[in-house]
Amino acid sequence: MPGLSKRIRGLTGGGDDGWGLFYEARRRKAAGQPILELTIGEHDVRTDPLILDAMHTAAKGGHTGYAAVPGILALRQAIAERLSESTGVAHGPDNVLVTPGGQAALFAAHHAACDDGDRALLIDPYYATYPGTIRGVGAVPVPVATRPEDGFQPRAADLDAAAAPGAASLLINSPNNPTGAVYNAHTLAGVARVADAHDLWVISDEVYDSQVWDGAHRPFASLPGMFERTLTVGSLSKSHAMTGSRLGWVAGPREAMSHLENLATHTTYGVPGYIQEAGLFALQRGADAEAKVAAPFRRRRDMVLARLEGQQALRAIPPAGAMYVMLDVRATGLSGADFGAGLLDEEDVAIMPGESFGTAAAGHIRVALTLPDEVFAEALDRLFAYAGRQMEKAHA
Ligand code: PMP
Repeated sequence: MPGLSKRIRGLTGGGDDGWGLFYEARRRKAAGQPILELTIGEHDVRTDPLILDAMHTAAKGGHTGYAAVPGILALRQAIAERLSESTGVAHGPDNVLVTPGGQAALFAAHHAACDDGDRALLIDPYYATYPGTIRGVGAVPVPVATRPEDGFQPRAADLDAAAAPGAASLLINSPNNPTGAVYNAHTLAGVARVADAHDLWVISDEVYDSQVWDGAHRPFASLPGMFERTLTVGSLSKSHAMTGSRLGWVAGPREAMSHLENLATHTTYGVPGYIQEAGLFALQRGADAEAKVAAPFRRRRDMVLARLEGQQALRAIPPAGAMYVMLDVRATGLSGADFGAGLLDEEDVAIMPGESFGTAAAGHIRVALTLPDEVFAEALDRLFAYAGRQMEKAHA
């Protein structure tokens, strides 16, 4: 076999990128062990049948040929309307490129923002694919650590220091995976200042914008002067339980979008038309349908927070959004990875160690709120029992 490119061989940065425990849990589950999985961000419900009906109707109606590369006009219009409303900045269809999921949008946005060898900032802890996405376009990921005591909100001074040696982009994610942080006005103003000072593209991953429990989501493009330097990433995966449909978008200034359309022509050649029709139908159902998909995560988040009372082993910064709770396990004396390994062995419960998301969430675990309430309650029983035992051991 001829040699493979450095770029593809270097994509993951080596090791298992913290996914070892996840794959081990999947292996045990496949072997028949009754593992309770609180790992990835996948709903416990499937896509609404009405959305599937719309997909079926579109496919039967003949929408199975190549669709317009940037996305069908009606869907781009619907996404533009949603963005105009949420940002207060007028968006038209020319500001929107439909992509196969938010992940492809993240890749396209970095492709547009970064040249080979450019520094691309991201906030640690981060969603697991971020560094590989950045390496995939030939740029260099530069994680900027946040602190639990700040509620994982990035500090402008840290961003400024990381940007100084010539960065091209800054990737933010609010509501945040894995921490559940929703960036406040102070944080966003700091990001805007740094972006202006260093002439950065801000790539704003807002795929959890329909899942906000405290405060309000502020789209980054809504900040004064920021629309021109922002590429906003969105998706129907989380808002409409459509993870498998692979439907997302990147939105931004018109000139950038025309280049992004060229990129789509040479990579994906668009998204299936029947999927886009289903996405259009889903968006047209309005905010109530999104609130219905989000409601179980709010309920389960509150279940976790209620459990935290009257015990010392686990702590949490109450997540203001998204479908996860980050728990601090440091009182047990264990790392997130060791806590997770023991929990899987002793209780058949799988979580993601904080160390899977960079270095800033070491000593934490991420619990996905993705099991039906009764099963979730059982998983919490086991999780808290295990944590209590570890705490006793640590103090014995
Ligand atoms: N961004 C974040 C923060 C995510 O958590 C995910 C999925 N887990 C994505 C982007 C990508 O989602 P999708 O490609 O399904 O739209």
